[in-house]
Formats: sequence, structure tokens, C-alpha cells
Amino acid sequence: MRYCPKCNSSSPDGAMFCAGCGERIEGNNSEPSVNDLYPSVENNIHYQTNYGRKEPDPHVSVGDWMLTVLIMGLPIVGLVMLFVWAFGNDTKVSKANFAKASLIWMGISIVLAFLFGAALMGMVASFSQAAGGYF
Ligand SMILES: [Zn+2]
Repeated sequence: MRYCPKCNSSSPDGAMFCAGCGERIEGNNSEPSVNDLYPSVENNIHYQTNYGRKEPDPHVSVGDWMLTVLIMGLPIVGLVMLFVWAFGNDTKVSKANFAKASLIWMGISIVLAFLFGAALMGMVASFSQAAGGYF
């Protein structure tokens, strides 16, 4: 008995192809099948079609940018839309990168605000302690 590497069904000993799925099951020294030879080409085509579908026009038009800037000015909607643009699938790459950069700066400024706030609190605390020592 031979067992198919693909679907695991059994075939008679002399069989060259799987009775279940047609996969070539001759010994390991057999010629590689077309599927073995050209998977990378197929992957490349797949990649290219994906690429083409995702980015038919890499440019974001002026009107689109104007709308982007307008939406970003809105208090909560702007922040939500930045996340949508940064991580959404159908956003043009340049706009997605812009949204990511904006989010990163926002994160940095929030961290800095916390640090400065903590430093300020520390200063206030030490001042009041010093004042408490004097008076
Ligand atoms: Zn099979």
C-alpha cells in the first residue's frame, strides 16, 4: 500500500497517482511535479495582483487631503479616523503612513505630558514639604 502525502488515502502499490486526489505518489526520487517547480511564481503573481488591488493609484488627491485635514480637526472623530486610516485595509499607503505618524506623535506628546505632569507634581510636593519645614 502507498499513502498519499496530500490526502492520506491509500492506493495500490504500483500506483503513480493517488486514487483520491490525483496527487503524484511515486517514490521520492521521482521528478518534481509542476506544483513543486512553480509555487514561487504562483506566489509572485498572487502578490502582484494583491498589490495592484490594494494600490491602484498611490496618490492621494488634493481634495482628499483637504477632507483629511478637515476631519482631523474634529475633536473625537479626527482621532477615530486616524486609527481607521492607519490600520484600515482600503486606505492609500501614503495616507495610512501619515495617519500612523500622526498617531505616534500623539502618543509621544501624551507620554511627555504625563512625564512633565509627574515632574511638576514632584516639584509641587517638594516645595510644600520645604514650606512645611520652614513654617
Ligand atoms: Zn491523495
